[in-house]
Amino acid sequence: MLKLMLPSLPEGRPPKVLLHACCAPCSSAIVECLLAHELHPTVYFCNPNIFPLSEYELRKQELIRFLEMQSVPFVEDDYDHERWSHCMFGLEEEPERGRRCSLCFEYRLRQAAAYAAEHGFTLLTTTLASSRWKNLEQINQAGLKAVSSYPSVTFWPQNWRKGGLQERRNELLKLNAFYNQQYCGCEYSMRSR
Ligand code: SF4
Repeated sequence: MLKLMLPSLPEGRPPKVLLHACCAPCSSAIVECLLAHELHPTVYFCNPNIFPLSEYELRKQELIRFLEMQSVPFVEDDYDHERWSHCMFGLEEEPERGRRCSLCFEYRLRQAAAYAAEHGFTLLTTTLASSRWKNLEQINQAGLKAVSSYPSVTFWPQNWRKGGLQERRNELLKLNAFYNQQYCGCEYSMRSR
């Protein structure tokens, strides 16, 4: 089983985990692992990058279907694709793993960090770190920046690809017949896959 590397928390505060999640396939093994370690996460769906809206709804519903089976709470942020696009202005032609993706991670994790601070969560981590398509360092940098305005929240840079979680992800994907998207999320990523 994956050895969890929990960051130490200030003033001995208990770990209360907010898991930013992008989709059911990437979340399933992580949620299962957190539950097995008696860390009962709340899942935060903040993904205004996903385009079009029908794709957003499909990914969201698949995640809800899985979380209901696990009795894990689900929270949805606003789907404001226009605001997200405005923030990405000028970076449309960037390749995946480039500057647009750094900003996109930061955007979503900032929203999650604000929610975590407002609702008493002490740890923030993300399922983005489970994808082999993404740069882990880039995600961790974005996570650290996102929590920098919220001293009560610590970013948890766990590598969610290790300890058999990648294999378990693939098993759960088949077992639950999850919808498995073929592009990262935004309209710019549609053309590159
Ligand atoms: S490719 Fe993915 S991570 Fe990069 S900007 Fe688009 S949705 Fe965000």
